Amino acid sequence: MPGTKVKGNQGSDKICKKVRCSYCKKEITWQEGDPLPPYFPFCSARCKLVDLGSWLEEEYRIKEYFSRREAND
Ligand SMILES: [Zn+2]
Repeated sequence: MPGTKVKGNQGSDKICKKVRCSYCKKEITWQEGDPLPPYFPFCSARCKLVDLGSWLEEEYRIKEYFSRREAND
């Protein structure tokens, strides 16, 4: 099948940016000059929330650990 090379219209050489989702490693692409994807650096709201949730949970555990130590003092 010929013509596998896809050229943008009228030589608009927009650079396609790629990054992998910080959580699930799925590839996220967007064009240079465009605003960043809404959930950047994640692929979706789900990944963002899951990642954020795990962070908060971790922080909470640490706080709980320290507050218990203080209470036992
Ligand atoms: Zn993801």
